[in-house]
Amino acid sequence: MNRKLVLSTGNIHKIAEIKDILEGLPIEIYSKEDIGLKDLEVDEDGETLEENAIKKALAIAEKTDGIVIADDTGLFVDKLDGRPGVYSSRYSGEDATYEDNNNKLLKELKGVPIEERTADFKTVIAIVSEDKTVTTVYGECKGKIGFEPKGEKGFGYDPLFIVDGYGKTFAELGEEIKNKISHRARAMEELKKQIKKLLEDDCSEDICSK
Ligand code: IMP
Repeated sequence: MNRKLVLSTGNIHKIAEIKDILEGLPIEIYSKEDIGLKDLEVDEDGETLEENAIKKALAIAEKTDGIVIADDTGLFVDKLDGRPGVYSSRYSGEDATYEDNNNKLLKELKGVPIEERTADFKTVIAIVSEDKTVTTVYGECKGKIGFEPKGEKGFGYDPLFIVDGYGKTFAELGEEIKNKISHRARAMEELKKQIKKLLEDDCSEDICSK
């Protein structure tokens, strides 16, 4: 019988991305909505991405069986001592739009030359197994914060984040490239390895070599 994997997110893009990367493994993937926990909200009040991801995953794991995963992402700008970091979604206030946050970031970096605008996107994914053991996996992507938004694709800080080695923002590069090199893509690859380990007993060579 396939094992059950529950995602703590309600974000349809993340759900699609995770389903895509875990395709072929002997698991049934559910969103928290699928298991009747749509309204379960968790305060992301941790001081680190790890704390928030673990808190979100455990909140669901308390209410369901199966493997549970939850992620947390932040943009860490060196010149700003790591801000916005864990506060990336509400950098300029609780109801901040992506544009508000980008404007605040540009304002805080006013006058800072390009070589000092280095930044890291980081993603942590927490995995709670059926026996409630917690593990985390990590992915990061390095770049620089541009002087103005560029590109139409993506979301969040994508128009400002110029990816090292590409000289373009995530918003210019688009989903196909971003999903190969991003912080989240890298964390997802680690997630896949970890889930395969958890499933080892259930996995045939064929399935797990994908
Ligand atoms: P979350 O933990 O995935 O909800 O991300 C927190 C915040 O970080 C989001 O509200 C976005 O502002 C930003 N963010 C997360 N992932 C990305 C990304 O891939 N590109 C740009 N911004 C992102």
